[in-house]
Amino acid sequence: MLDCTILDFIFFLILKIICCNNFIIDLTELSPKYLMKNNINQNLNNSEVKNFNWNLIQSEMKNKLGLDIFESWLKKIDFIEEHHNYLLLSVPTRFIRDWITSRYLDQILQIIKLYKKDVTRVEFKIVDIKKNNYKNIFEKNKDNENISFIKDTYSLYSRIDPNKRFDNFVTGKSNKLAHQASLKVSEKISFYNPLFIYGGVGMGKTHLLNSIGLELKKDKKVMLISAERFMYQFVKSIKANDMVKFKEYFRNTDVLLIDDIQFMNGKEAMQEEFFHTFNALIEKGSQIIISADRPPNKLPRIQERIKSRFSGGLVVDIQKPDIDLRKKIVEKKLDELCNLYSEQVKISKDIQNFISSEITTSVRELVGAINRIVSFTRIYNKTPSLSETKVILKDLLNLNENNVTIDLIQTLVCKFFKISKNEMLSSRRSRYLVRPRQTAIYLTKILTSKSLPEIGREFSNRDHTTIIHSVKTIEKLKEKNPEIIENINKLKNQILYKKENEI
Ligand code: ADP
Ligand code: MG
Repeated sequence: MLDCTILDFIFFLILKIICCNNFIIDLTELSPKYLMKNNINQNLNNSEVKNFNWNLIQSEMKNKLGLDIFESWLKKIDFIEEHHNYLLLSVPTRFIRDWITSRYLDQILQIIKLYKKDVTRVEFKIVDIKKNNYKNIFEKNKDNENISFIKDTYSLYSRIDPNKRFDNFVTGKSNKLAHQASLKVSEKISFYNPLFIYGGVGMGKTHLLNSIGLELKKDKKVMLISAERFMYQFVKSIKANDMVKFKEYFRNTDVLLIDDIQFMNGKEAMQEEFFHTFNALIEKGSQIIISADRPPNKLPRIQERIKSRFSGGLVVDIQKPDIDLRKKIVEKKLDELCNLYSEQVKISKDIQNFISSEITTSVRELVGAINRIVSFTRIYNKTPSLSETKVILKDLLNLNENNVTIDLIQTLVCKFFKISKNEMLSSRRSRYLVRPRQTAIYLTKILTSKSLPEIGREFSNRDHTTIIHSVKTIEKLKEKNPEIIENINKLKNQILYKKENEI
């Protein structure tokens, strides 16, 4: 970074000299980096940012367009590279690109211009992160997340989100203990001290910490801070010779909630300070609550004595949500959105079941999926069909389209209905052949991205109107016939996961 600054400075001097000699030069052509840095610095009131940082743009998008829109659509945009007057960004699917382009592009561009005013357009490239260096993108984000750019005011230390409360935290087997423990400390401070909650990404840890914070804040001094921000403030305070204030602030609180402690990988001095703050707080009866993505003994780069302090109270985990919890969350979230928009957001049971059975990785993805479906419904004024849902949620689903071939679908459907492939592909219209044929056509439509004529060709050159008719017939039958739904679900699982009885 230092090298860069010196080089840029020399560059700038040369430019000055050239400019003095009345040469007209487009500064942006010559040193975009220099200008870019300057823009950012102006915009952030001399904060420590020195590089064009996609993370900053993302935070700004989150602020300006709201968390829901951000989580549902914009978070998936990644930065690829910058050019003189445009940025190349990536999105995971064509649908998301079109959605973003038609709705948020102007605002996104405005935000980017705040940091790099020469940008006149952005271009999107579709990058399937599942196939394409998923890991790289993930790791890059992780690094970026470690950088906080907050103004140095103490009031901003603590950020409690009023939308994450106990009353909208849905409980099930996987999070019951963590929920009960959180309620307990909210009722009776220091009952468990510290309370250590751990679990994977998007499982509801921050939600629980927030809920505790909101409860206790009514009559206590509460501080909720992420570990990375804690480190950032610590370093800033040392630089500004302001440690007394820092210590005072942290040691005066009645409740200290530290989120994502796995990011605390600070130097000895910081761990030392943290250790003493921790002890001082416990001694005076303040409550400490910590969250992490793993149990205390698995935390890397954290001193043993701190880890053993973490284990000294109650350690509870949040597991992946099971199907029951996922269903409950989908219902609750839809209820909430109905109330929010004060209108009926009708999402069929079929789609609800599809979302809760397919999106299994985290509650965050589940919530994001529902937000997407609801925004689709509101904008197009109709509930998406199952195949539309698949397109909207493509990047969140585990469906590996590449493994799903028409041949596989035909083979499994024939096996299921005990008919031969020749029979299925023949032109015979006996009832015992028509239904399996329609089922195979329907499954091909929803599980692959093949067009109607393409599907027709694979089914002995049938006309595309026959294909539409088959899809519609099965969709109609599904509405009133639970057996058909069950068969379709069984087949779908066999095709996608080679499993028999799930859903
Ligand atoms: P983590 O901190 O574990 O990564 P979060 O607390 O940020 O996860 O949760 C991710 C999203 O899922 C948030 O929008 C949160 O409100 C929601 N969420 C998580 N668990 C639940 C739950 N049990 N009930 C309702 N919403 C939940
Ligand atoms: Mg969190």
